[in-house]
Amino acid sequence: MTRDRPHRRPHITTTSDTTASGAASASAWRALEHSIGGEVLRPDAAGYAEASRLFNRRFDDVRPAAVAFVTSAADVAECLRFARAHGIPPAVRSGGHSYAGWSSGNGRLVVDVRRMDDITVQPGAALVGAGACLGDVYAVLAEHGVTISGGTCPSVGVSGLTLGGGHGLLSRAYGLSCDNLLEATVVTADGTVRTCGPDQEPDLFWALRGAGNGSFGVVTELRLSTHAVHESSSADLAWPWSRAADVLAAWQDWAPELPDEMWSALRLQKDASGPSVSVVAFGLGGHDDLAARLAALPDGRTRHGVRTEPHFDTIRRFAGDIPGPADRPCYDVRSDFVAASLPAEAIGAAITTVENAPADVDASMAAVAMGGAMNRRPAHETAFVHRHHRFLAQYEASWDPFDDAGVGRPTPADADAAAAAEEWLGAIHSAMRPYASGEAYQNDFDPRLPDWRRAYYGSAADRLERLKRRYDPDRVFDFPQSL
Ligand SMILES: Cc1cc2nc3c(=O)[nH]c(=O)nc-3n(C[C@H](O)[C@H](O)[C@H](O)COP(=O)(O)OP(=O)(O)OC[C@H]3O[C@@H](n4cnc5c(N)ncnc54)[C@H](O)[C@@H]3O)c2cc1C
Repeated sequence: MTRDRPHRRPHITTTSDTTASGAASASAWRALEHSIGGEVLRPDAAGYAEASRLFNRRFDDVRPAAVAFVTSAADVAECLRFARAHGIPPAVRSGGHSYAGWSSGNGRLVVDVRRMDDITVQPGAALVGAGACLGDVYAVLAEHGVTISGGTCPSVGVSGLTLGGGHGLLSRAYGLSCDNLLEATVVTADGTVRTCGPDQEPDLFWALRGAGNGSFGVVTELRLSTHAVHESSSADLAWPWSRAADVLAAWQDWAPELPDEMWSALRLQKDASGPSVSVVAFGLGGHDDLAARLAALPDGRTRHGVRTEPHFDTIRRFAGDIPGPADRPCYDVRSDFVAASLPAEAIGAAITTVENAPADVDASMAAVAMGGAMNRRPAHETAFVHRHHRFLAQYEASWDPFDDAGVGRPTPADADAAAAAEEWLGAIHSAMRPYASGEAYQNDFDPRLPDWRRAYYGSAADRLERLKRRYDPDRVFDFPQSL
C-alpha cells in the first residue's frame, strides 16, 4: 500500500515544488566556503547565473541559495552539515538533466559533483567520479578499447543516469547502467562516507541501483563494469508518414525479440516540417547481421543507411549535435512502460495524437526496445523493477521559450506554447494509458504522476521506504518525489 509522505523531516521545510526556506548569515556562508576544498557561489557571485543553470531552459528562473562545487566526499559531508544546521535543503546535481528540475530548487544548496570527474580504467571496470558526463566517460574508455553500458546523450551525468537505471545501445547486450554498477561511494545524510557493494552495505547498494537519484545520499564515485567493443553497426531508417501504422506494428513485434547484441528505437514525431516516422538500430555484430534483421521491417523506406565503424564513432553518431549554452532546449517529458504489443486502436491513437500536436510544439513519441540482458535480471535484484516490458514509451514536447531574437524573457506566446505542450503530453499519456502497464521510468521524473512510488518502484517501494527511514530518518534529501 502506498502512503503519502511516509515520515517527515523536522529541520528543513519545503513547499510542494522545490522552493525552500531557511537562512544562514553571511559569515556562516563564508565559513562554509573556507571549510571546503571546492567553491561556493552565492547569488552575488559573478559566476552564479551560469552555475545555477540546468540543461533544460524551463528551469532558468530557479534561484538556489548557493551552488557548492564540491571536490571530495569530505566537502559533501561539510555541505550536508551546513544544510542541516541552517535549514537549507540540499539538492544533488551531476549533469543537471533532471526532467523535473529536482537537482536544483529555489532557496536550496545545490551540491554539484561535476568537479569530481576523474576516470580511471581498471581491469574489466572503470572508476568514475560522480561528476563525469557520459561523453567524457565514453571518450576516455574508447582509448582503451572498452566502454560502459550507458545512454546516448553525452552531457547526461553518469551518476544521474546510473542511479535511476540507464538504458542505451548496450543495455540489451550487457544490462542497464545500474546492472553494471559494481560499487559506489556515497555520503549519507549524517555525513558518513559509505562504500557500497554486494558485500558492503548491500541494502543501500540495492537501493542505489534504480532508486539512487537524490533520495539516499550524494554518490561521489562509481565503479562500473566495462566491455570491450571495437566496431559496431548502426542504421537509420525512415518511411512516409502514411506507413507509420505499419512501421510501429512491425517494429513492436520485432525489436524486443532481436538478439541481445542488437538494440532499436522508433520515433513518431511532428515538428515544423510535419509528421515523420523513423527507426534507429544498433548491432555489435557486422553490417550484414544488422542489415539482415532490418529486412523484416516494412519496405517503401525513404531513408535506409547501415554502416559499420569504430564503436566510438557510432556513439558520436547517436549523440547528434550537442547544444551549446545559447541553444539549450526547453522541453518536458512523460513515460510509460509497455508490456504487450499495442493493438491496432492504440497504434491509431498514438499516430493521431502525434499528428494533431499543436503547431508551436515539437512533439514525439519514442519507443525504446527492452528485452535481452536487461530483462533477464530478476525484478528485485535491484531497485529497477521494470524487467518484464517490451518497450519504454517516452513522450516529449519541446518549444521555443524565447522571443524572436532568441533572448530576453519568455513572451506570452511562449507561455501559450508551454501550456500547449503540457496539454499535448496529457493527451498522449491519456491515449496510451489503457495499453501501458502503469509503470514509469524513474529517470524521467514526472511530477504529474499521482501514484509515482508504485509507477517507478512497483513492489520494491515498501523496502525502499524502510531504507529511507534507516539512511535518511530526518529527510534531509527531500523533493516532491523523493522516497
Ligand atoms: C537530453 C536527454 C537525454 C537522455 N538520454 C537518456 C538515455 O539515453 N538513457 C537513459 O536511461 N536516460 C536518458 N535520459 C534521462 C537521464 O538519464 C536522467 O534525466 C538522469 O537522471 C540525468 O542525470 P544528470 O546527472 O544529468 O542530471 P541531474 O539533474 O544532475 O540529476 C538527476 C537526478 O539524479 C540525482 N543525482 C545526480 N547526481 C547524483 C549523485 N551523484 N548522487 C545522488 N543523486 C544524484 C539528482 O538529485 C536528480 O534527482 C536523458 C535525459 C535527457 C535530458
